Amino acid sequence: AAKAAGTNRCALFTEDMHTHAVERLDRREQLERAIENEELVLHYQPIVDLDLGRVAGFEALVRWEHPARGLLGPGEFIPLAEETGLIVPLGRWVLREAARDAARWAGAPYLSVNVAGAQLEQPGFVEEVACALADGGLDAARLVLEVTESSLVGDLEAERLQALRRLGVRLAIDDFGTGYSSLSYLRRFPMDVLKIDRSFTRDACDDSGLLQAIVAMGESLGLVLIPEGIEEPEQADALRALGCRLGQGYLFGRPVPAEELVGIAVRVSAPTAS
Ligand code: C2E
Ligand code: MG
Ligand code: MG
Ligand code: MG
Repeated sequence: AAKAAGTNRCALFTEDMHTHAVERLDRREQLERAIENEELVLHYQPIVDLDLGRVAGFEALVRWEHPARGLLGPGEFIPLAEETGLIVPLGRWVLREAARDAARWAGAPYLSVNVAGAQLEQPGFVEEVACALADGGLDAARLVLEVTESSLVGDLEAERLQALRRLGVRLAIDDFGTGYSSLSYLRRFPMDVLKIDRSFTRDACDDSGLLQAIVAMGESLGLVLIPEGIEEPEQADALRALGCRLGQGYLFGRPVPAEELVGIAVRVSAPTAS
């Protein structure tokens, strides 16, 4: 009986695995088609000057207008894109689309685009960025590329980042403080902007020593600091007092389609009562 049960379990397990593999293939094909058929859309979230209360830039955040499932956030398909390598064509589309959008923005706010480690590893990545800027009509000085600590690994990446900077593009570390790497990469990799993860921003009003240390370190390295995930006016005040010039979060605006940016910019630049 024990043997029969074991065999049975084994059969079930295999069937289950097969189902998963089929589903995964199906999802991969759907995502591949979505990139080709332009089912992806970009939303933009303002990055604001905390002193002036004015928009300094916008971060492009990708969404998928799935024909059956509705609007999907990146959490539902970026991991699959990274597993399957589709992040490379997806990222290429994002960069080209965003450069075209940003070239039309009044007041020339900067454009921030997330870049995955696999994109950075592509031999032609620097040329791709140059082409996206040229074709979109966007000045390189208006582009910031956001990379995470986990994609900063070796000499190849360091060289590529140097080449991007020679183009005139600026570089940001995203989700700072959530990675596992040592801080020595800040010396090896040329960075301009440090985006402080929202897990630290949350403690802004609690006199957090860790947050103060991050700000002090960023300042001493000459980096522009951008705390992410600001939701409360008190957090914005505390972060400004700490010395952060820029900030990002739902308090100032959620990510919205390009068409809605004008309204957001007006709302954000209205003086905040304090
Ligand atoms: P991220 O680059 O750190 O982007 C910030 C995320 O925090 C966005 O989530 C944004 O909507 C969310 N957020 C902003 N302000 C607040 C706030 O005040 N409170 C809270 N709770 N959340 C806030 P989203 O759009 O779901 O994107 C999630 C992640 O997906 C991004 O994190 C980024 O890592 C990745 N991602 C998005 N677009 C792209 C892309 O085009 N390429 C790549 N490689 N990754 C992308
Ligand atoms: Mg980002
Ligand atoms: Mg982030
Ligand atoms: Mg992130």
